[in-house]
Amino acid sequence: MSEPIKTDVLIIGAGPCGLFAVFELGLLDMKVHLVDILDKVGGQCAELYPEKPIYDIPAISYITGQGLCEALMAQVKPFGPTFHLGEMVETVEKIGDPLFRITTDQGKVFEAKIVVIAAGGGSFQPKRPPVPGIEAYEGTSVHYAVRKMDVFRDKRLLIVGGGDSALDWTLNLVPIAKRVTLMHRRDQFRAAPDSVNKMKALVAEKKMDLALGQVTGLEGANGRLTAALAKPDKGDPYRLECDAMLPFFGLTMKLGPVANWGVKLNEDLIPVDTAAFESNVPGIFAIGDINTYPGKLKLILSGFHEAALMAQKAYHYVFPDKRLVFQYTTSSTSLQKKLGVA
Ligand SMILES: Cc1cc2nc3c(=O)[nH]c(=O)nc-3n(C[C@H](O)[C@H](O)[C@H](O)COP(=O)(O)OP(=O)(O)OC[C@H]3O[C@@H](n4cnc5c(N)ncnc54)[C@H](O)[C@@H]3O)c2cc1C
Repeated sequence: MSEPIKTDVLIIGAGPCGLFAVFELGLLDMKVHLVDILDKVGGQCAELYPEKPIYDIPAISYITGQGLCEALMAQVKPFGPTFHLGEMVETVEKIGDPLFRITTDQGKVFEAKIVVIAAGGGSFQPKRPPVPGIEAYEGTSVHYAVRKMDVFRDKRLLIVGGGDSALDWTLNLVPIAKRVTLMHRRDQFRAAPDSVNKMKALVAEKKMDLALGQVTGLEGANGRLTAALAKPDKGDPYRLECDAMLPFFGLTMKLGPVANWGVKLNEDLIPVDTAAFESNVPGIFAIGDINTYPGKLKLILSGFHEAALMAQKAYHYVFPDKRLVFQYTTSSTSLQKKLGVA
């Protein structure tokens, strides 16, 4: 375990509501770290509908999911939040009044006065392909994400899937791997045509292989993969020697570890009060899609409102001896200085 990273606030989830919370907390001088299991910010907007237009963000008649994420990132820039992407918060433990120790699956430890759960519908987790015994190789030879490309240097890689992730990682890993084989069920791909064309050019130049079929079994020992067994739609099963397999079958949302953090849950949602959006544990707040209260609407604008009220109460925990004066950004020079505009 590493040295704890100390912060005023730890936000779990960098979706739109977690991002806007950075702004509201920043205006009140609270320093923030955010953790998200995805390798990018924006939650559902970035992962599920980056190109879809959203029409109900107040005062913005039209913005895409990705556009909203970019606008939020620009808005929080003055506050310099620290992002820990590609990490899942596993444990949240109360160690003070209030003070929390939070750990991630990458071994990071935080000590935060306040925890804001902005975990949406839960953590995005990779879909596991239906290959018998695959669990025994996960984390050692079967990887659902690429955190460090160098791990795959000089290895024989089997990349499985036909979407953007599979094609992007194929193109990125061909130069460093010993050999890359891309396996897809059929010779048609959902990925961007440009990536598909580049991949086919590499196959034509014999710099990588394309295999049609589905993985039906794995061979190896002690978590170390030596080969995958595959079956095409037509034709005989075959065997492909490889050191690592990277299946990219999309993501699914699961509640994940939230259930073990000691906060009360109601049908997988966190009940909160509507004055501060605090859970039953003082100092742990829940905003956005993850919370529930009478009349809750799972809309981005609801999460923005919740973030503003949450920050007011969080301030009193972080600065117990200070008085909070309500101010407008239009007229407060002190707020404008924090925003870097005065
Ligand atoms: C197709 C579609 C269209 C939509 N259109 C609209 C619309 O037009 N208008 C509108 O207002 N809303 C719309 N929504 C809903 C909107 O996207 C959600 O209300 C919004 O994304 C909720 O934001 P959030 O920040 O609460 O959670 P999310 O966007 O779900 O983000 C939560 C983040 O938390 C992370 N996380 C969860 N658990 C952990 C953990 N343990 N450790 C680390 N990270 C974790 C997740 O990886 C995720 O990135 C739409 C949703 C969908 C699916």
